[in-house]
Amino acid sequence: MDENFQLAGLLEISGTIRCRTGLHVGGNPEGFQGIRLDSPVVRDPMTGFPYIPGSSLKGKLRALVELALGRYGRDRGAYHPCSCNACPICRIFGVGAKNRSTKGDVRGPTRLVVQDSFPEGFAGVRAVPDEGTTAARWERLPTALPYTEWKKENSLDRITSAASPRDVERVPAGSVFGFAMVYQLYEPADADALPVLFLAMELLERNYLGGSGSRGYGKVSLAVQGLVLVPREALLGSLGGGEPASTAAVLPGVADLSDLKSRIAGALRSRLFQGEGNDPLPLPTAGTPLAEQGSRQRPPPHPGAS
Ligand SMILES: [Zn+2]
Repeated sequence: MDENFQLAGLLEISGTIRCRTGLHVGGNPEGFQGIRLDSPVVRDPMTGFPYIPGSSLKGKLRALVELALGRYGRDRGAYHPCSCNACPICRIFGVGAKNRSTKGDVRGPTRLVVQDSFPEGFAGVRAVPDEGTTAARWERLPTALPYTEWKKENSLDRITSAASPRDVERVPAGSVFGFAMVYQLYEPADADALPVLFLAMELLERNYLGGSGSRGYGKVSLAVQGLVLVPREALLGSLGGGEPASTAAVLPGVADLSDLKSRIAGALRSRLFQGEGNDPLPLPTAGTPLAEQGSRQRPPPHPGAS
């Protein structure tokens, strides 16, 4: 195994998350501006605007794709993510430092960085949101809470029929957030793993984001609007010593997740890894240990990982 690895390029993925139903991503139980709710949303501490933490989005995408591909683990009732450090999921979403050093073949840092998603029109502290955007509409919401609605949820005890109402705060349906991710590519397998990320996005559209999804909350649509490749040469500039390179849109005009899923690996391979190991890994399917699939010299999965 090579000891050195080198960044080949970065793929910047951006787009929108549109809330089809009210969204509840849970926050500090102390609430906001002294208003206590049983179940408040997470807010940006400087502006009070609700947002979607990158960790929430990343964790949900990971869990959904683990469920779909048979890598979702439970240990004594608690969820634990795949830690084989060999499958496409571990490659994209990362594993803890302990597992990274002791097993598997994915070297280097976690490939995917998921940034916090802020509402469309959000411009930070003391800035006025653009007209017509989600942030501007939130400022005019006729509710008691800034930028959100709240809903009385009633759960009935099935035996005693006793009601236990609670207040759940939500971002209203129709709100739009902007998402941004950066994916680091070091080797051809990084390009080959990427369809799994778009699969995870497709699964999210058919599932939910945040809490109370089984009660209808958190139905979202995702649209990829930007897919920009920054090759290593463009990052290094004159430091690189080679031919100057520029950033480029990858698959311009293709925003459909299914289409991206089938074409992204080939597009990135041809731009970054031409001629390197010309046998793209197939998308894993459920039922077969991922580490055995499409692998030329992958180690067997760790016995504790499944
Ligand atoms: Zn894994």
